[in-house]
Amino acid sequence: MTVNYPEVWDLDTLFPGGSESQELRLHMNEAVTKLSAFEELVHNFKVPAAKEDAQKVADLLEQMSGVMRHLSQSGAFIGCLMAQNTQDKKAGILESEASSLSARFQNSFQKIQQDLSKTEDGAWTELLKEESLREFTFILNEWREEAKMLLSEKEESLITALGVDGYHSWSQLYDMLVGEINVTVSVDGESKSLSVGQANNLSSHKDAAVRKESYEKLEEAWTDKEEFFAKTLNSIAGFRLETYKKRGWDNPLQEPLHINRMKQETLDAMWGAISSNKQPFVDYLDQKGKLLGKDGLDWYDVDAPVTESTQQFSYQEGAEFILKQFGKFGPELEQFAQQAFEKGWIEAEDRPNKRPGGFCTGLPLSEESRIFMTYSGSMSNVATLAHELGHAFHTYALRPVHSLNRSYAMNVAETASTFAEMIVADAAVKNAQSKEEKIALLEDKVQRNVAFFMNIHSRFLFETRFYEERKKGVVPASRLNELMEQAQTEGFAGGLASTHPHFWASKLHFYITYVPFYNFPYTFGYLFSLSVYAKALEEGSGFEEKYLALLRDTAVMSAEDLAMKHLGEDITQQAFWEKGIALCVQDAEEFISLTSAEA
Ligand SMILES: [Zn+2]
Repeated sequence: MTVNYPEVWDLDTLFPGGSESQELRLHMNEAVTKLSAFEELVHNFKVPAAKEDAQKVADLLEQMSGVMRHLSQSGAFIGCLMAQNTQDKKAGILESEASSLSARFQNSFQKIQQDLSKTEDGAWTELLKEESLREFTFILNEWREEAKMLLSEKEESLITALGVDGYHSWSQLYDMLVGEINVTVSVDGESKSLSVGQANNLSSHKDAAVRKESYEKLEEAWTDKEEFFAKTLNSIAGFRLETYKKRGWDNPLQEPLHINRMKQETLDAMWGAISSNKQPFVDYLDQKGKLLGKDGLDWYDVDAPVTESTQQFSYQEGAEFILKQFGKFGPELEQFAQQAFEKGWIEAEDRPNKRPGGFCTGLPLSEESRIFMTYSGSMSNVATLAHELGHAFHTYALRPVHSLNRSYAMNVAETASTFAEMIVADAAVKNAQSKEEKIALLEDKVQRNVAFFMNIHSRFLFETRFYEERKKGVVPASRLNELMEQAQTEGFAGGLASTHPHFWASKLHFYITYVPFYNFPYTFGYLFSLSVYAKALEEGSGFEEKYLALLRDTAVMSAEDLAMKHLGEDITQQAFWEKGIALCVQDAEEFISLTSAEA
């Protein structure tokens, strides 16, 4: 007998009663007590000077991890409340309470980092040899290195304070500018006034005239305000470069590479491999243009559907499909996912007042995860569900690891999720009921490759060149347009009939102040996980144990060491990246051959 999996998640096992929960209230009060005690300890903490101080450092770390787990537990829970019902006002209040607690925690954390950087090198080496600290070697060294890259405590705190209005508020101004834009587009014979987000969603509309008009109206709007956007972008980059200069960093990539724990050579090898393998994707773009009855593909047709996937799966069918495919990879992934379905870890119901999109969040004290999405029965929903289960499996894999050793960077964050999604997406293509269905599923995969290898590459090229020019002075809107067009021509290897000059104004990612170069980690994560996937296909069912070991190490070593230790691969070499790309090339070629007869 098959059990029916619940479509609504169970949050009551965490804290009963939602945003009115008494248990949650008590938990938050306890968080304040724990945090205050930690702040006190940090305040009185003395810079460790000899190996005898190891125990004191270990105690501090233990207390720190306790506070972190406590805060994450409530933070994640409140995030779930906010997502399941955007009208939950009480949850909104709890959220601001939680975020002010985590800001307090961050302050103490920075103080600790600074203190640890003051220990003499010799004493530091001795300290790390002590049993009580050995498992934290990687993160402790990283904290210390980070603190050393910075200016003095006083100067850094001045930068942070000035950054609120002088830096981050440019990013908020950007949101305000974009929020003011409305464009009028005629959709299905009706003239509609649309926000930027709504107009962007029309990029995959089945009517070519709608796609073209929404693109053109948006481009007009960006042009209209281009000087404001140019001012904003120049100010953000200017603040960043000036800070870097004071800290003595001359490469704008230094910070993003450090955050992602990877080397410049690795990044160069990745883009190098991508650049020399673009032709199959250019051929795909050409073919797509033909399918749309055009000579060459325009920017605004990149997301156009060539055929529609019509296959529908009930939630139960989707879940069973995922479990079956996971089972072919390994028993632990299958059992884990089954438990997530059975125990109500997943919120999938299609109902009003839910936030759009999907996420997976971990609850460290309960050692559970919760997955949020809206399931409406398409194959792409099934893939999203598998993706989020992959994230949850990553958290599960990290359970035996100390909680301070679980913070992985953005570039490896998508490894387990993309991996799980790939298992399901590949199986879906193989199981397709018709040729049309197969084409639609394949296209979905190839479109993603175009995004990672071409679109994101062009963003990276643009940003790198823009920063170089910005060092010499303000870069006017007209020049930003030129730089963007050049970057797109190169990124898409000349595969498009037209470019999008104001893309730099339209893409929020360029204006995120908290994360510099919000682009290459996506491509890295995707290709890295493809290589892990290629390895899994090669090694068969015995691979799962190795896979779990890799996931466990994602937060305690550099990207280079991780790949060397678990895959035996040198990721500073192009040859590594080419293996993942080869899998994508197969999809592009299959798409072209399946659609050739029809073009
Ligand atoms: Zn993800």
